[in-house]
Amino acid sequence: MSIKVENLTHIYSKDTPFQHVALDNVSFTIEDGEFIGLIGHTGSGKSTLIQHLNGLLKPTSGHIYIDDLDINSKEVTLKLIRQKVGLVFQYPEHQLFEETVYKDVAFGPVNLKLSEEEIQKRVRSSIELVGLKYEEVKDKSPFDLSGGQKRRVAIAGVLAMKPKVLILDEPTAGLDPKGRDEILNQIKLLHEKEKLTIILVSHSMEDIAKLVDKIIVMNKGRIQFYDTPKKIFKEAETLERIGLGVPQVTYLIRELRKKGFPIEDCISVEEAKKAIIEVLRGKKDA
Ligand code: ADP
Ligand code: MG
Repeated sequence: MSIKVENLTHIYSKDTPFQHVALDNVSFTIEDGEFIGLIGHTGSGKSTLIQHLNGLLKPTSGHIYIDDLDINSKEVTLKLIRQKVGLVFQYPEHQLFEETVYKDVAFGPVNLKLSEEEIQKRVRSSIELVGLKYEEVKDKSPFDLSGGQKRRVAIAGVLAMKPKVLILDEPTAGLDPKGRDEILNQIKLLHEKEKLTIILVSHSMEDIAKLVDKIIVMNKGRIQFYDTPKKIFKEAETLERIGLGVPQVTYLIRELRKKGFPIEDCISVEEAKKAIIEVLRGKKDA
């Protein structure tokens, strides 16, 4: 599913002394099946933006189109939009509340009044999609799971709605490196296997650089850059000025280039390894 945002402005507490412009005339398009990283300093407007994409927040002005459908037009119900666009909040495990994992994941489909059979099918496949074993976890209390597992159950609950677009707000926040890598890998698999359009919100360039097709960089309620990771990392100075860095390995490559190595920008350690080996081989041959 494609997403088109047109001149979106959001002002919190408009016309009060607390008025705050959180989004300032934001426009962009995301094509069907793209994997987009949304990055920006705390307070730059990321969460405000994504909550507009499933109708949770209403624009102060501007439009949002999901596959050419204006989601804020009168004839569109929120129920419909939320089946298309799944939003996983920050710390989604705080919203687990049922006594079993099964019931928690089934919550959305039950509300859709689907058949028992369809509900069970969806619960099983969603739990498996996030890399958990259905038989092992279905009857457990979500509260007896590890932090990373709880978060996966919460993500499974969103997937059980079978959305075409999946938006995750800082899904790695507060996890240890192992939990973080597991979640990121799982999200990558979802993109590859299920062909979902994914928006991954993060404040870590390291996390998203190697995963996404394009990055949207937000700064003070506006879009500063929207491009491929490679192109965006050429803007290291601007990124630093707005409180973001580029991945460590990108700095390393840049230093090598300053020292005269003919080496192109790299965004992941794997890529850098290859490039460095090639350069060394080339030098030897010469
Ligand atoms: P991010 O997710 O990038 O950290 P947010 O979208 O949460 O940014 O916030 C953008 C700006 O809007 C911040 O300055 C924040 O303080 C403000 N803000 C967020 N939610 C509210 C709210 N409910 N009422 C008033 N201001 C808010
Ligand atoms: Mg946020």
